[in-house]
Amino acid sequence: MIEKYEKIIGEDELYGLVKIAEKLKDFSILHVNSTRAGGGVAEILNRMVPLMRDLGLNVDWKVIRGDNEFFRVTKSFHNSLQNGYGELPPNAFETYEKWQEINASEIPLDYDIIMIHDPQPLGLIKFRKKGKWIFRCHIDISNPYAPVWEFLKKKIENYDSMIISTPAFARDDVNIPQFIIPPSIDPLSIKNQPIPEITVKRILYKYGIDTERPLVVQISRFDYAKDPIGVIKSFKLAKEHIDGLQLAYVGSPATDDPEGEEVYEKTVKEAGDDKDIHLLMLPPYSDLEINAFQTGASVVLQKSIKEGFGLTVSEAMWKKKVVIGGRTGGIPLQIIHGITGYLVDNIEGAAHYIIHTLKNPEISQKIGENAHEHVKNNFLITRHMREYMSVMLYVTG
Ligand code: UDP
Repeated sequence: MIEKYEKIIGEDELYGLVKIAEKLKDFSILHVNSTRAGGGVAEILNRMVPLMRDLGLNVDWKVIRGDNEFFRVTKSFHNSLQNGYGELPPNAFETYEKWQEINASEIPLDYDIIMIHDPQPLGLIKFRKKGKWIFRCHIDISNPYAPVWEFLKKKIENYDSMIISTPAFARDDVNIPQFIIPPSIDPLSIKNQPIPEITVKRILYKYGIDTERPLVVQISRFDYAKDPIGVIKSFKLAKEHIDGLQLAYVGSPATDDPEGEEVYEKTVKEAGDDKDIHLLMLPPYSDLEINAFQTGASVVLQKSIKEGFGLTVSEAMWKKKVVIGGRTGGIPLQIIHGITGYLVDNIEGAAHYIIHTLKNPEISQKIGENAHEHVKNNFLITRHMREYMSVMLYVTG
């Protein structure tokens, strides 16, 4: 499996990967997160765990469980860390601790290296039996809500190191080593492999899209941070200047995100009775469908207000699309304004660049090519694995 990447990354890079993996082959490694499907962390682990095994590593992946109350608490943590303010459910910290204990009693934690993804399972560190623990933080913690941050920080400081996605998230109040490792996409997954035009057309047609007319696409969970209402408003502005413009906002549920339904309903309301706005809720693992929407898009939006990294940006850039992204979190690592896409700060900006992209096909083609190259050089899963393995080697000394 791993050797298939040689044609994309070259012989030297692949050799480096194999060599570093050899050094880790005697360690047992565990990844822990809070959902098997839905969202970027699950997307990465679904691809990375089999690839790491293929490299000869002894890797497991466990998902913590919780009830609705627990996931309401962790979503409130997530929102308040990213927004800088927040409202927590009653007894939030007690609920959080209770489920850490339950999960610690069910998940074997006797591994040599444990990588904990995001705040939901962060508190498992209290039950460390042995080994080195790495906190992999995928979200924006540059301006966190102090009560939540102070609660989590005490736990983070018991880890051996921490990984963040962009320098903008670095913390000078955490006294453990911090590594900056942006996430990645898998170029050989069903979601990212080239697919025939006929397949794209068949899938878009099935979901009611007219493939003869221009299409704006945003792929995102229904989450306020992804600004679905702003997407609709930008689309409506752009539509006044582009005949026949259509919008597909494609989302799917995530078991650790209880807010999806509420946000979906508000988005439906904002869309009103515009027949050219398609709000789609696809089941998890709809990778071919997501690929088809990204490939078939005339332009891709990722109008996030807050974003950890935004895998959807790299996914669309890899497909040579012009991506218009919110200037936040990890999006500016991917989009260099005017060169690999466009960065925007508001609804009018997004509408402006939708129109600009569609009215200037030559510029858009060049940007799409730059975008593909930028992802190839920086945001592929092979680089990501190499850097994770380097941190694992660092913590094990
Ligand atoms: N995704 C998907 N189906 C959907 C919506 C999203 O498969 O309906 C995928 C998307 O292609 C990407 C991941 O979920 O791989 C979302 O990751 P991202 O970093 O963009 O955002 P997150 O959800 O982690 O905030």
